Amino acid sequence: MEISVVVPLYNESESLPELTDWISKVCNGVNKPFEIILVDDGSVDNSWDIITQLSARNPSIKAIKFRRNYGKSAALNEGFRIASGRVVITMDADLQDSPDEIPQLYEMITEQGYDLVSGWKKKRNDPMNKTLPSKLFNYTTRRISKIPLHDFNCGLKAYKLEVVKAIEIHGEMHRYIPVIAKWTGFRKIGEKVVHHYERKYGRTKYGLSRFVKGYLDLLSITFASRFGKRPMHLFGSLGSILFFAGFLIAAYLTYAKFFQEAYKMTERPLFYFGLLSMVLGTQLFMTGFLAELVSAAGRGKQQDYGISESINIK
Ligand code: UDP
Ligand code: MG
Repeated sequence: MEISVVVPLYNESESLPELTDWISKVCNGVNKPFEIILVDDGSVDNSWDIITQLSARNPSIKAIKFRRNYGKSAALNEGFRIASGRVVITMDADLQDSPDEIPQLYEMITEQGYDLVSGWKKKRNDPMNKTLPSKLFNYTTRRISKIPLHDFNCGLKAYKLEVVKAIEIHGEMHRYIPVIAKWTGFRKIGEKVVHHYERKYGRTKYGLSRFVKGYLDLLSITFASRFGKRPMHLFGSLGSILFFAGFLIAAYLTYAKFFQEAYKMTERPLFYFGLLSMVLGTQLFMTGFLAELVSAAGRGKQQDYGISESINIK
């Protein structure tokens, strides 16, 4: 298999016939073996019926359906599990992304050696309330991740197979796939200006809440990638610093009380700072221990460290 096109969809029945025909036409045009993986994210319209009909006459279509709506990240994650093409391309189902970009994306991965190529909707056909917050979002993500992409959240992306097999996404993390990929060790990340059409059928699935969730997810992945496997380094050091500061304060107050002037400890505001600092420090430390236990318990059940090559090991 050369190309896997993964399409997450939620209530997109009107677009599907046109979309699958278009993808097939383009892939047949470049003469590469391909598969179209449709992931129905628990649609409540007749998307699945349409998919069943389409797959009867188009053998390239593979599909799964979630029992309920889990979100685009979950859909992509499962699509990635099934994909077997040398190049994996993701695309929205609503015909806003153009299958005509597939050949060039394919070439960028196979010939130019990119691990991941993200589309850039340079001229974007969406309303203002989407484009403006998205600029801010892209700016922050660019600063934090130091990946020079203009459009992190573009649904149209291409990957080496190895990349999609190495990453796990859930929540709303599909917006940060380039960031996750980079932190997993795939550094050659490129960008391609892509066509973007207005939504033809149906309506958008995302409101303003996505920005709140988006930022929370950015925090989670930053934390998980930096300290997920060694939480004690964060909590332990913060906790120790706080505790130590509190201890110094208490020591000073004790010294002052016995050797300088007699006073009631509780009359000094500093006393409360010292107390609070020691209590919080201890708690952070304990949190670190718990986090270590959780992380240790999860080890072995999931992919731990990305291994890119091995010799004589089955
Ligand atoms: N989608 C999905 N599950 C969801 C929400 C959206 O699979 O819970 C799909 C949707 O069907 C579309 C893609 O994700 O194929 C992008 O969604 P949408 O076009 O609504 O986002 P927008 O382009 O408005 O940002
Ligand atoms: Mg869309």
